[in-house]
Amino acid sequence: MISQNSIEEVLGTAKVDEVIDEFVSLKQRGVNKIGLCPFHNEKTPSFTVSPAKNIYKCFGCGKGGNSVQFIMEHESISFPEAIRFLAKRYQIELEETNVEEIDPEEKLKKDSFYIINDFAKAYFQKNMMESQEGKSVGLSYFKERGYREATMKKFGLGYSLKKGDHFTQTAVEAKYNIESLRTLGLTSKSDFDFFRSRAMFPIHNLSGKVIAFAGRTFSTDKKTPKYINSPESEIYNKRKILYAMYHAKGPIRKAQECILVEGYTDVITLHQGGIENVIAASGTSLTIDQIRLIKRYTENVKILFDGDAAGIKAAMRGIDLILEQDMNVQLVLLPDGEDPDSYLKKVGVDAFSTFLKDQAEDFIFFKTNRLIDEVGNDPIKKTRMIKDIVDSISKVRDTLKRSLYIKECAKLLDVDEQILLGESNKSIRADIKQKRLKEEYATRQQQRQQQRDSGFEGLVEPIPGDQEEQRDHSQPNKLVINDDYQERDIVRVLVNLGDKIYDEEQKTTVAEYMVINYRELIEMIDNQLYKSILKETIEQVDAGTEFKTSYFTNHSKEEVRMLATDLQMDPYHYSDWDGKSLYLQTQKMPDENFIKDGLNSILRLKERKFQRTLKKVDDMILGEKDDTQIINLLKTREVIRKQLSEVRLQLGTVVPVSF
Ligand SMILES: [Zn+2]
Repeated sequence: MISQNSIEEVLGTAKVDEVIDEFVSLKQRGVNKIGLCPFHNEKTPSFTVSPAKNIYKCFGCGKGGNSVQFIMEHESISFPEAIRFLAKRYQIELEETNVEEIDPEEKLKKDSFYIINDFAKAYFQKNMMESQEGKSVGLSYFKERGYREATMKKFGLGYSLKKGDHFTQTAVEAKYNIESLRTLGLTSKSDFDFFRSRAMFPIHNLSGKVIAFAGRTFSTDKKTPKYINSPESEIYNKRKILYAMYHAKGPIRKAQECILVEGYTDVITLHQGGIENVIAASGTSLTIDQIRLIKRYTENVKILFDGDAAGIKAAMRGIDLILEQDMNVQLVLLPDGEDPDSYLKKVGVDAFSTFLKDQAEDFIFFKTNRLIDEVGNDPIKKTRMIKDIVDSISKVRDTLKRSLYIKECAKLLDVDEQILLGESNKSIRADIKQKRLKEEYATRQQQRQQQRDSGFEGLVEPIPGDQEEQRDHSQPNKLVINDDYQERDIVRVLVNLGDKIYDEEQKTTVAEYMVINYRELIEMIDNQLYKSILKETIEQVDAGTEFKTSYFTNHSKEEVRMLATDLQMDPYHYSDWDGKSLYLQTQKMPDENFIKDGLNSILRLKERKFQRTLKKVDDMILGEKDDTQIINLLKTREVIRKQLSEVRLQLGTVVPVSF
């Protein structure tokens, strides 16, 4: 048990922004800090940290809390473990009773998985440093590779003995649960050790906890796999892990570059040589989760390849995924027969670093040059190659960058620029079409799920803001989208809160404040009734008339009067900020937040308008035949996309909930 005093000390000391900053790159945004959420996949940040309030909140997935909750969530650990984690981080001595005693039930939980892996790591290290076998096989192997003892310690390297069940016996004697040993893959079903006579590489998560192991064989038998890894478990998902990210994340952020290599030993050699922004993916190709993990720290990736052609081909396929994430990818090809490990040893750190700088080639050009060499003059192969290159170029979102690639690649390939442009447009259009279909499908699924979860299936109206799409039967393939919900929301705030004082000093009202913000949108309002109310308000504000909410309930036009009355009688009928959550009649209007409420209603409408314009532009792109026109449309699309993310960012920082 950790004493209450200690818990309070940790809670009082651990600054939420400091704690989170180790896992998420945070940027200042007004009084808050924002970054890409570690709990759900997103391309624009909605993960917000308030240093003043010492809490975080993600406006994308809803996760939020204090520093302890962040660690619990991020590391999948229990409350006491999170307290211990932070105590260690802040060098706080915990008052703890019964430290040794581990609750038997706890042994089955994740915490105990980490404890067991820690035990195993120490065991493998001890084998290597103390046992005769470990010293002569394991230690001498690492020494031969040139690893210093400090390096071995840093990466927790060790050795697993030849004897069939020595580890399992030792662990069971130390009262570790045999089931957990099996789950973690340290012990086989028949109670033998899983790792036998192998050099051991622990795999750490972002906070340095051991979540799995890789074992390298000493056998020269070709049938024995060179490396075996722990199976996936509750704490180890290999698609989400990058080897050495724990050690490299600081250096990556500092260098604003991530170097990706293939092998564990490459990583370790480079780190030992002082090049520490280096990681490895355990598999051959990168996953989208791994790319997003890198993107938390930098947008620049440099990939190092050994000279062999098969490896390059396999890896190149995964790189389009990185381009899609708006990241910059460079490749470096090592001289024939060399890997990063061997080449660094051969030429030394300085020459190696210079080599990386000089030889780094932009991925698109690298790919183009490589394919040109491969294809030669075969016209059929050449056509296929152009398609392949164009596909990669189309993944680059930035229009300027993309047109540059097209120009340069046209030269390299000796084809007309217009042809590449046409092909690239085709590819982009295909992407837009596919993404749209996927989105529509996902939205529908989500709505159904939300209704099912709420238990209101069939009882509630369609979710506002999401299900406003109706089929226009005169044009069967066109979706008519209206923003009635968002438009009504602005009127709602206005007729309920318009006369409140927004700024004490300037004596301005909410209505005046809102007019400033929605004036530019007025012509975009679809609903004529709302539009007339909003226009009248502009006129009043411009004329300097004092705004009264009773003005509209006493209006001469009946429909205006009715609407204002409806909205005043039932002011709570509005959606959550994201328009996704199911709204309840009992939900209280956050009167204390009326300013934010007002601004948000406008932002929400802006978001809808931009979304809708984006869809329109996409439609035009899909229907356009002329390549120059398509380029112009793509430029427009880029501008709207940026505006949309800007609005979303603002929505993320000024929402009227918990902050
Ligand atoms: Zn999130």
